[in-house]
Amino acid sequence: MARRSSPPVPVEPQHRCGFVALVGRPNVGKSTLLNSLVGTKVAIVSPKPQTTRTRLLGIKTLPHAQLLFVDTPGIHRHPGPLLNRRMVTAALNALADTDVVLFLVDAQRGVISADEEIAQRLSALSTPVVVILNKIDRVPKPALLPQLERLAALLPERELIPISALTGENTEEVLNLIIALLPVGPALYPSDEFTDQSERVLAQEMIREQLFLQTQQEIPYATAVIVEEFQEKPEKHLLTIRAVIYVERSSQRAIIIGERGARLKQIGQAARLQLEAFSGCRVFLELFVKVTKGWTNNPRMLNELGL
Ligand code: GDP
Ligand code: MG
Repeated sequence: MARRSSPPVPVEPQHRCGFVALVGRPNVGKSTLLNSLVGTKVAIVSPKPQTTRTRLLGIKTLPHAQLLFVDTPGIHRHPGPLLNRRMVTAALNALADTDVVLFLVDAQRGVISADEEIAQRLSALSTPVVVILNKIDRVPKPALLPQLERLAALLPERELIPISALTGENTEEVLNLIIALLPVGPALYPSDEFTDQSERVLAQEMIREQLFLQTQQEIPYATAVIVEEFQEKPEKHLLTIRAVIYVERSSQRAIIIGERGARLKQIGQAARLQLEAFSGCRVFLELFVKVTKGWTNNPRMLNELGL
């Protein structure tokens, strides 16, 4: 595998490395900032297939630091407020394991109660938090002041920085702030890119995640997602993915497909948007649902899933 044979990152004195989590309401610009900070060599890996918590890494390797950006996708996008709350709680628990938390707020929208709720929870964390007021390109400077004051009051003694993830204003400063907060340590990942093997896994994970979010809880455990086709056409900026969702029973198939295909369409759409956000390409995603009795006991399937 390319990851094993790739050259090691040279260890320099005071090299820093750590995990950075991005949190905030949907649409505040987390993905945009992630892509911007990681840059064009965005490398994402999802180490293990899991339904409860999917960790996606965006890796930024510099000579003096390696930043491992953790996006916890399940947390921000899903329908019900109850699920929302539960997922937010799960996400916040996970934050205790990271080294730095980036908390994003949308300046165009202003600081709203949902932001305040997240801020309140973050204030209890011992993890360093960088508060980021994003989309300042959309707001006249004087209007930023009350927002910055509000955020400073909500999370006193935390780093606070107004940025535009879109134009890149102050994003370099964000990077430097993060590095200063990371623990000293060697790089955990090779400096070069990942193979498309991990992108396949990422695609599987994103589809699985949507299954988890958009169906009853027992459904994801009864499913396996296998990406049968994964084709990049860089010249067209297009990624074609064909995946099969295997289920144990036809009743499960019906649930996933939904009325007149509505749920499967939603699952596919949401997964596609995530894949597009991460790959920076247009994604053509085809999903099929197949009933395979006893797939959990089928060695070939388990092999393909790497289980
Ligand atoms: P997420 O849901 O938090 O990951 O948010 P996204 O990164 O998907 O961004 C949501 C929308 O906000 C997209 O349309 C972005 O283009 C837009 N956006 C993100 N950052 C900025 C910014 O700094 N300025 C402006 N004007 N738009 C932004
Ligand atoms: Mg996003």
